[in-house]
Amino acid sequence: MFEFWDRKVNQGVYFFIKKSIQREQLTLAVSGVKKMSRVAVIKVEDYQEESVKEAIIKGMRLLGLKEGFFKDKQVLLKPNFLAPSPVERAVCSHPAVIGAVAATTAEMGGVVKAGDSPGLGSVFKVAQSCGASQVLENLGVPLVSFEEPVEVKFPQGRICRSFPLARPVVETDMIISLARLKTHNLTRYTGAVKNLYGCISGRHKAAFHLRYNSVEHFSQMLADLLGLIPPALSVVDGIVSMEGPGPRAGNPRFTGFMVISEDAVAADAAACSLVGIDPEKILHLKYAGEMGYGIHKINQLELVGDSPLELKVKNFKQASGTSIIVKGFNHPLVARILRNLFVPIPDIIPEKCRGCSVCADRCPPGVISMEKKAYINQNGCIRCYCCQELCPHEAIRLKRSFRLFKD
Ligand code: SF4
Ligand code: SF4
Repeated sequence: MFEFWDRKVNQGVYFFIKKSIQREQLTLAVSGVKKMSRVAVIKVEDYQEESVKEAIIKGMRLLGLKEGFFKDKQVLLKPNFLAPSPVERAVCSHPAVIGAVAATTAEMGGVVKAGDSPGLGSVFKVAQSCGASQVLENLGVPLVSFEEPVEVKFPQGRICRSFPLARPVVETDMIISLARLKTHNLTRYTGAVKNLYGCISGRHKAAFHLRYNSVEHFSQMLADLLGLIPPALSVVDGIVSMEGPGPRAGNPRFTGFMVISEDAVAADAAACSLVGIDPEKILHLKYAGEMGYGIHKINQLELVGDSPLELKVKNFKQASGTSIIVKGFNHPLVARILRNLFVPIPDIIPEKCRGCSVCADRCPPGVISMEKKAYINQNGCIRCYCCQELCPHEAIRLKRSFRLFKD
């Protein structure tokens, strides 16, 4: 028997009805639907090894993954290793989730590796800081560096037709995107799809921020990247998520669920909707959906597992510096004025700045200079928020300038 939550709409109100049918019937029920993606939503109370592994196995079963899904395949786990940070800050993927997915994948016959290209520090240092090194070592899973780039062409890309991918990404058979649910000051939300940005090798990421220097272009590039390297499986850890000014300076919040899907866009759309973010407003999901790389519309998701209604999180704080999209104002001058008025700028908090120069080293257009403290030349700032994302001392806040002309 297979239990799932069926979603109905009546006069604009959504209802979820628990149903229980034979798996064969379910296959028949969805086989006629062309655009539908299945997402397993699992309630998880804590990061105990057993609870997390149980949730991963349950999720894979609900998705109907066959025993041989990973058999003899090279499988690359792509966790979120943004920057060195203790696990309780919820910046990086949780070691229990990494361990559970790595162990399950290996038990299903996969040959597993893990790797990432952190924004700050080496992958080894970041994995050490969040406790993932030990877990991977215990399982005999090698951790690999993403420093060596391989240029890969993608002629179908809408905006980006060539990516400097990390060698292990190019050489693997399958990728598993292991994301932590977090808010993001540039893209509003980061999960399974945005997590793939770390597959771009080392410092090429900064060059990409400079090249795709608006949220629209950056999001379209992310959608293209997904088209090139779609993960075989996506796991979004929403057990403890990050709310507020993510992806690094936000606050951890217990949200108590995990979503798993073969469709990264659908996994993100489900995770977004559970914390009250409209997936339609997350541009990289919307663009990826439009390009056919996944399903971002919530009414086209087949949610299986635990009740989304029970797991729904209220008052989840959004990123403070969220970029805005103003529809209907296509004139470049008007768009520029609106951007200057409403899109926040980074601002150094002098009493917190310790002059470490991490922000200056990572600023794509190089508009941060250092004396004793950091100073931002706002005229050249592209508002990518890399500085705020990577500042180890939370010494950069975002604020609105309310100036008509600045660029
Ligand atoms: S703003 Fe942050 S990253 Fe930049 S110099 Fe100051 S402490 Fe370092
Ligand atoms: S100052 Fe910060 S937000 Fe502005 S371009 Fe540099 S890194 Fe990006």
